[in-house]
Amino acid sequence: MDQENAERQESRGGPVYECVKCGRRVEYRELERYISFRCPFCGYRIFRKVRAPVVKRIKAR
Ligand SMILES: [Zn+2]
Repeated sequence: MDQENAERQESRGGPVYECVKCGRRVEYRELERYISFRCPFCGYRIFRKVRAPVVKRIKAR
């Protein structure tokens, strides 16, 4: 549902933050749009920085 949308968003090297409450990932530039950096999904205000959601699987060989 919403999560699919979030994961479909491509990050272009910008920082990505993850809400510690609901676990949704929000790009920094998306967060900038919201007042006080609140989670657009649950309204929580604590985020942790995560790496850009690059979905790559690296096989050992
Ligand atoms: Zn949240």
